Amino acid sequence: MRMVLLHSDFIEFEAVSKAIKTAPEAAKGKERIEECLVALMAIEKDDIDTQAISQNAVAEIVKHAQMVKARRLVLYPWVHLTQEPSSLDVAQKTLAAVSKEANKLVAEGFEIHEAPFGWYKSFNVKCKGHPLAELSRHIGGARKEEARTGKEKMFAKYCIGQKSPAESDALVVARNTASLVALLAVKSLYPKAFFGLAKSDKDGFSCDVEVGRALTPSDLQAVAREMANAAGSKLPIKLGPIGRQQALDAFKASGQKFYLEAAAEIESEVIMVAQANGHMFLLPGPFAPDTSGCGQFALREVGGAYWRNDSGQKQLQRISGTSYEKREQLDAYLKLMQEAEARDHKKLGRELELYMQSDLVGKGLPIWLPNGETIRQEVENLAIETERKYGYVRVKTPNLAKKELYVMSGHIPYYQESMYPEMKLDDGSYFLKAMNCPHHHLVYRHRPRSYRELPLRIAEYGTCYRNELSGTLSGLLRVRMLSMNDAHMYCSRGQIEQEFESVVKMVVDYYRIFGLKDYHFRLSLHDPANKEKYIDEPENWKFAEGVLRGILQKLHVNFVEAVGEAAFYGPKVDIQYKAVTGREETMSTIQLDFAAKTKFGLSYVDTEGKENREVYVIHRAPLSTHERFIAFLIEHYAGSFPVWLSPVQVAVVPLSVDQNEAAQGLAKRMLDSGIRAKADLRQEKMESKIKDAYAQKVPNIIVLGKQEIDAGTVSVRKRGNVQLRDIQQDKFISGLLEEIKLRK
Ligand SMILES: [Zn+2]
Repeated sequence: MRMVLLHSDFIEFEAVSKAIKTAPEAAKGKERIEECLVALMAIEKDDIDTQAISQNAVAEIVKHAQMVKARRLVLYPWVHLTQEPSSLDVAQKTLAAVSKEANKLVAEGFEIHEAPFGWYKSFNVKCKGHPLAELSRHIGGARKEEARTGKEKMFAKYCIGQKSPAESDALVVARNTASLVALLAVKSLYPKAFFGLAKSDKDGFSCDVEVGRALTPSDLQAVAREMANAAGSKLPIKLGPIGRQQALDAFKASGQKFYLEAAAEIESEVIMVAQANGHMFLLPGPFAPDTSGCGQFALREVGGAYWRNDSGQKQLQRISGTSYEKREQLDAYLKLMQEAEARDHKKLGRELELYMQSDLVGKGLPIWLPNGETIRQEVENLAIETERKYGYVRVKTPNLAKKELYVMSGHIPYYQESMYPEMKLDDGSYFLKAMNCPHHHLVYRHRPRSYRELPLRIAEYGTCYRNELSGTLSGLLRVRMLSMNDAHMYCSRGQIEQEFESVVKMVVDYYRIFGLKDYHFRLSLHDPANKEKYIDEPENWKFAEGVLRGILQKLHVNFVEAVGEAAFYGPKVDIQYKAVTGREETMSTIQLDFAAKTKFGLSYVDTEGKENREVYVIHRAPLSTHERFIAFLIEHYAGSFPVWLSPVQVAVVPLSVDQNEAAQGLAKRMLDSGIRAKADLRQEKMESKIKDAYAQKVPNIIVLGKQEIDAGTVSVRKRGNVQLRDIQQDKFISGLLEEIKLRK
């Protein structure tokens, strides 16, 4: 939030006309407030932490009001302070929270006045013009992208009295100590080194240094050895407050230019510093009493990092590592890291040529390469096949639609900040599709429906667009365009149970095929105490939540309940998956929706020929988005996809050039029967062709020699060191086709 505070002789304002159609009515005529502190406020795009922002804003207003001795506070929404305003919904919500917070001050003798929101206002203000009369502030809470450029955020923890409770944790002590020991090691190896900042977190620690050149992995080893020496020497560490000026003098004398700059910006008169082996460090504590308290440590990597995280500033070297109390803990962590690295979908996606990204296309818009597209297509084929069995019908809807549709669905204004900006065409405003649901509701209601048609299950391989901040995009896990096999079921109240049950079964089926085992269901319920957050249909909530719970119990699936996690329009079942790398995420959700029937006027003609408006909608996409799901699959299989998903299912390697023709013939025969086979006819040695096929994780490698050709057989190297010798070609092909068909 941007805020400007004006200590004024008076402010006079009048609501002239509505800037926003839905703005609440405002008082008529001029309002004049004498001797006041005016707070002009603009809510910005990233202001998502309403509670923290409103509290911080009011705290700032009060602090200033007390300084200038103002008792009358004027809250004045004024969007023009920012170039990046939030959505209307967020602005309204935040301003309401500010107002609520400010009105608590009435008890303390403050008078609160508020200018209307959503109106064009004429105003006249006479600012007092003394040194404290004008002040501009940026008020933050948790933001989408953690901006670390503000000096308060960067350096505040070096002041006294800023320790958070977590800092007393033994692990944090070890990691803080390890970063200090790393700096001591750097200083002993590079006596002219400058220290930057350091931090420790749940994964480990890092510290920045400048040594006049880029550090290499072998430098890192030297640092680690030197750290072990320093730890063995048990050098005492002293942490304590010193006067700010004394710290500045010390950093100036030792030439620590970054510390000097950081310390100069700390507003406190006393600064916390650590001292060890004759050096002074600006590091967050607490520390162990001596350097041996750095725990069992390992250095992970070194890379460039800008001072203040600002690309316009000097580049330092960031050394990162981790530390644990026990050796076994460190080993376990390192193993997990190694595993995660080997399975990283970005790394494997590149090595196996699954997808690419291009600056010319933009961030968060992966381009599927032939290998990746094959996998994507196989997943989609599975979905089409399964949905056919479960009685779904498929449709195809456009990727953009008129504004009116999304107003009707409630995406505008509630979801607008996640949508792309509107496109003004000659016949109205259009938006890129944010969700498939509104489109499917139109399919449902394009003609009257009879009870005989219910449940109607409408499926689509749909593509949706989400406006994510560029800095948050990552590989396939967070993208700007999502594809999924989406579907909506339209059913009567009496059919909810069977429909929900069939979706849960479908999820279990899918997960079994992919061999995903480490998952559980989460029944997400509404919070009856929070009336504002949920649609007001208490009967339906009670009924639907009971039905969902009953289904999960009946199917004996592993599930937990979570109050307050429901969607505003109905309860849902989330499928929580724990990846091999330890990360737990919601893989897919099944949602029940009571709101669509009213918004879209959904109904059917019942057995008695009467119109029944109780149409319930179930939203489901059990395979998540293709982007996310394939990222999971890459990690899950570590790139070694089962045969049915493998981009190349068989590699045929001729023993020598003489067998090239036969190899090509065999590959063609397999291709014709529906197997993705490829003959490697490059002029490489046979051994290197086999090596390449292994590297590409091809599940079947056939080496074809004269002997096999004469006998009409093949010898196959299957994954996991399994060798099949001299099998008849026909038998191998039919066996493989069966394996593919069964998706083993
Ligand atoms: Zn939906």
